[in-house]
Amino acid sequence: MDKFVYLFHEGNGSMRDLLGGKGANLAEMTRIGLPVPFGFTITTQACNAYYDASKTIPTFVEEQTLEALTCLEDKMDKKLGDPNNPLLVSVRSGSVFSMPGMMDTILNLGMNDETVIGMAKLTNNPRFAYDSYRRFIQMFSNVVLEIDTFYFEQFLEETREEKGYSSDPELTSEDWQEVISGYKAIVKKHTRKEFPQDPKVQLFLAINAVFNSWNNQRAIVYRRLNKIPDHLGTAVNIQSMVFGNMGNDSGTGVAFTRNPSTGEHVLYGEYLINAQGEDVVAGIRTPQPIATLKDEMPGVFNQFSEICKHLEQHYQEMQDIEFTVERGKLFILQTRNGKRTAQAAIRIAVEMVKEGILDKKTALLRVDPDQLNQLLHSRIDDKFEKRILAKGLPASPGAATGQVVFDADEAESLSNDGKKVILVRPETTPDDIHGIVASQAIVTSRGGMTSHAAVVARGMGKACICGCEALKIDLRTKQFTVGETLVNYGDIITIDGSTGEIMLGEIPMIDPELSDEFQLLLAWADQERKIGVRANADNPEDAKKSFEFGAGGIGLCRTEHMFMDLKRIPIVQKMILADNYDERMEALDQLLPMQQGDFEGIFEAMQGFPVTIRLLDPPLHEFLPDKEELLVEVAKLQITDPQSFELKRQEQLLKKIRQLDEFNPMLGHRGCRLGMIYPEIYEMQAKAIFYAAAKLAEKGILVEPEIMIPLVGHVNELKHMRQLVISAAGKVQYETGRMFDYTIGTMIEIPRAALTADQIAEEADFFSFGTNDLTQTTFGYSRDDAEGKFLQAYIENKVLPENPFAVLDQEGVGKLVEMGVKLGRATKPALKTGICGEHGGEKSSIDFCYRMGLDYVSCSPYRVPLARLAAAQATIRHEVNKQEIFTTA
Ligand code: ADP
Ligand code: MG
Ligand code: MG
Repeated sequence: MDKFVYLFHEGNGSMRDLLGGKGANLAEMTRIGLPVPFGFTITTQACNAYYDASKTIPTFVEEQTLEALTCLEDKMDKKLGDPNNPLLVSVRSGSVFSMPGMMDTILNLGMNDETVIGMAKLTNNPRFAYDSYRRFIQMFSNVVLEIDTFYFEQFLEETREEKGYSSDPELTSEDWQEVISGYKAIVKKHTRKEFPQDPKVQLFLAINAVFNSWNNQRAIVYRRLNKIPDHLGTAVNIQSMVFGNMGNDSGTGVAFTRNPSTGEHVLYGEYLINAQGEDVVAGIRTPQPIATLKDEMPGVFNQFSEICKHLEQHYQEMQDIEFTVERGKLFILQTRNGKRTAQAAIRIAVEMVKEGILDKKTALLRVDPDQLNQLLHSRIDDKFEKRILAKGLPASPGAATGQVVFDADEAESLSNDGKKVILVRPETTPDDIHGIVASQAIVTSRGGMTSHAAVVARGMGKACICGCEALKIDLRTKQFTVGETLVNYGDIITIDGSTGEIMLGEIPMIDPELSDEFQLLLAWADQERKIGVRANADNPEDAKKSFEFGAGGIGLCRTEHMFMDLKRIPIVQKMILADNYDERMEALDQLLPMQQGDFEGIFEAMQGFPVTIRLLDPPLHEFLPDKEELLVEVAKLQITDPQSFELKRQEQLLKKIRQLDEFNPMLGHRGCRLGMIYPEIYEMQAKAIFYAAAKLAEKGILVEPEIMIPLVGHVNELKHMRQLVISAAGKVQYETGRMFDYTIGTMIEIPRAALTADQIAEEADFFSFGTNDLTQTTFGYSRDDAEGKFLQAYIENKVLPENPFAVLDQEGVGKLVEMGVKLGRATKPALKTGICGEHGGEKSSIDFCYRMGLDYVSCSPYRVPLARLAAAQATIRHEVNKQEIFTTA
């Protein structure tokens, strides 16, 4: 027969899956000789057996439980239900991952009308005994019998008032007995049964309730949110009671071995004298800081400090510890890895290395890369009170203050006047980019975490709140309301993109902190990692940021963003609308020096590090005005000014837009297909790059541009484009008299490119996997449509485990990446490979890239520190083949 019940001394800390986190740690602490009240754990497998037996406790589980209970009774020399010498226990749930949705703990189980008398005699403290009994009835009724605590509290309050007391400690033993009678009546009224007197019945009812709580609504929702599998089940811990409420030589408390918010190495916590378990968190009395325990109970304090040190050394982790003191004797009731802020996580990891507790590799595994986001954005200073107006989705972290504007153009013009603005819109589109750039932060009332606004804002490292439905925006009157509150154009608001909170007025901020510890940790990461980290940067400013954050180059420089600049867009439009080659060349000649200037700035910022520049990628219509708007415009002019030159011009524009109109722009005339039809555009871009390289060579900075051709699906496309670039380079070299090295490569973002990567590699010096388009084309999803319409439902219904645009789909898209690398390297063993989709900044995707043997990942500048850490973790994890040990289990 399998073992379903473990006494604490039979288990150990590695048995989390079976005993749950709490049970495994109680066993471990028992094993290393700490003062833990004796007890046993019913396993998570028993929970699954309970569900397999359609929610009944199987006999073998019941038998093993009773056996363990007998051991417990022998050990304690007390018996459950013995009126003269009763054993009392706590029943505590505990799954593998701590889950707030689970059942509350029941204390003092075993109390009934007889044992309470025994307790009173034994302790010579009837008041304590009756108080414990009434606490038990209340807890048990609430948790197991599901009677709202409110009824009990109301009754207690009435009794207090009746007797003229102002607080609980004034109640005498007799008063508590009265309360108990009242409580029992409440139970009878709600359940039509007496309060269960048989302690064994109490025990099994409680075990049932713990098992049931695994599938209550709260727990299910929590598991879904945190991707915890449903099949794990919860364990139940049965533990003999110790009492912190036996007088002033007793108490209970919790402490962290280090400060969880700053990481400082001091004991951090609080306690209450003469109180039981829950009282500390319940907020009935204000607890005292742990430091004063030193004066109140010096012996206990010293012992506790030693145990804290011991536990930290033992687990090599900051611990969060629960303790109780019963008549001067210390007991430890729980330990677990303490939750902490990013700042604390970094400081603790670094200091533990310095203290010799951890080696560097383990320390690197201790910081969750996802958490680092918190540190790279301004934050609201918690010292100041904030009144929250509304709450939306925390779409992009960081905080910002600014004047409310409702329109991208207005955002831009106000920002040009030196004003700080926050763009508030129902949602944003690519047309709003200039407004987003100009704003401190973005707020939308519609759209989710992956909406346009969210994605763009995260890319730019700007704070953003999405889907804040409480905002009723009126674009016409330029105001929004939240309930009764009216906010006008120009009013100041503050938003926190990490929490989704919107507040009126200005609230002081703290600048992002790249603490010394953070820098040090990243330096360690750089020593470990075997995969490069580059940044996606489209302008000199982003390039500088990337360099600052430690990027080893630029993996993707998108040239279209240079086209979007307000001053350039008319020239770009001129180029697109050109009727003939000469007209087009005229526009291109104007654009060339502008692009060259950008490239010079980027090369300079990167100081000789590699820079991959992608030639023009999006379809040309993206640079033209919106068709519908233009239609309205033309219709108006036809009525008001039918003879005007302006109307002619607009009509021409409309005609061109119609020509460029596509059924499916994502799969239309874009990428290298543009270069094939309008080679002069790519030629201009290539020349601008080479002129910039020549210019920098003059300044003594050697750059080796990597020119990247987008959207190649057939090797012949690349063959053509390669010739074009080589000839442009030749021209520039001849003209400037300067030689420079350069390479030509391609994006792999169309399945056909991955499938024929061996052919494509013949013409490519490098591959860069554009996993955004590759995901779109592999799934056959257009991202905007998918995220707007069905993807959320897919994820909720577990059709897909994650959003494949955020977390690389390793099984599908990843297979194409793998194939691309293998085939490419079969042709060219030294072929350089990288990834430049948003996935390059996501930890599990980075791990995948490492395993595929890519040379580098590339992500937005603000994700570079995260990627450096994640890259080191991938290396360490796979080289040492050690289990992933994240702090926040
Ligand atoms: P949670 O997971 O919500 O912290 P716990 O099971 O740890 O729930 O218990 C809640 C409170 O009851 C804690 O303060 C804990 O220390 C206390 N407690 C649990 N078991 C005992 C016991 N056997 N004796 C005394 N106090 C206990
Ligand atoms: Mg606890
Ligand atoms: Mg692409």
